[in-house]
Amino acid sequence: MLSIVVPCFNEEASLPIFFEETEKVKRQLNMPFEYIFVNDGSSDQTLPVLRELYRAHPDSVRYLSFSRNFGKEAALYAGLQAAKGDFVTVMDADLQDPPSLLPEMFALLRSKPELDCVGTRRADRKGEPKIRSFFSNSFYNIINKIADTEMVNGARDFRLMRRNMVDAVLQLSEYNRFSKGIFSWVGFDTEYIAYENRERVAGETSWSFWKLFQYSIDGIVNFSDTPLNIASFIGALSCLGSLIALVFIVIRTFIFGDPTSGWPSMVSIFLFVGGLQLLCLGIIGKYIGKIFLETKNRPLYFLKETEEDQEKPK
Ligand code: UDP
Ligand code: MG
Repeated sequence: MLSIVVPCFNEEASLPIFFEETEKVKRQLNMPFEYIFVNDGSSDQTLPVLRELYRAHPDSVRYLSFSRNFGKEAALYAGLQAAKGDFVTVMDADLQDPPSLLPEMFALLRSKPELDCVGTRRADRKGEPKIRSFFSNSFYNIINKIADTEMVNGARDFRLMRRNMVDAVLQLSEYNRFSKGIFSWVGFDTEYIAYENRERVAGETSWSFWKLFQYSIDGIVNFSDTPLNIASFIGALSCLGSLIALVFIVIRTFIFGDPTSGWPSMVSIFLFVGGLQLLCLGIIGKYIGKIFLETKNRPLYFLKETEEDQEKPK
């Protein structure tokens, strides 16, 4: 059986189109399907749409509804937990992950028994603002340099996994979830299929530039401690520098006396060192914040409703 996990946040307009498209593929694939829609605290009609879908297709549709918006990462985790299939795929509801790729992904997975996962990545960054592509590419350059976990540039969350890999992902129950990293951290053999990027069919993206920026910082902090090393390195360097300067000044004063001292340079140095300290404190604070959230050990989400709360239609 194949489980399709779909996180949904305000997707009332996309869901019916998504379902229709996927049903078409289902006929091609000719294997049992199970949909798991996760309503991530939508404020629109997503939940009624899901109830409707369940009533119309009680045998293949399941849904989970969160008590509030917990974010896509939590929705993915909940969906994976609920999935019962031997194969599991995760897809966005906005058709940016085209279901029509599924047969190709299946064929690839079947043709190579040693493969555990077929992922997708965008072939290029056409149609994206230049500046955004620049930041995205820089992010991947940086993170691949400083983190041990390899992150594939342009890889999407859309992937088809075998059960063994799903179980591995589920064992990482950390609170700070960065899926791109988690999927690659667990290892297993993954091959990527490239495809042309598409616009979402309806609704709006929930990602602003600022959110993406924070997401990338999260990715770095979650998978690398290099920023901490850089901070200590800069600290050590400036310590050494100032020590040499101190010796130099003391000796110079002994030899030449102390002419009018330059306080502007003094102030600059204070500011510089103060700034450095704040920067390093900020970096350390980032990690402490993560530890703080992690040690609270809170559940990743709360369910308010699932399809089991509904009477099973005949
Ligand atoms: N999503 C979610 N919770 C959120 C934000 C997004 O479950 O807090 C879902 C959303 O419904 C969609 C997928 O995650 O199915 C990807 O979101 P979106 O299309 O906004 O992101 P983009 O494709 O622009 O990266
Ligand atoms: Mg999208």
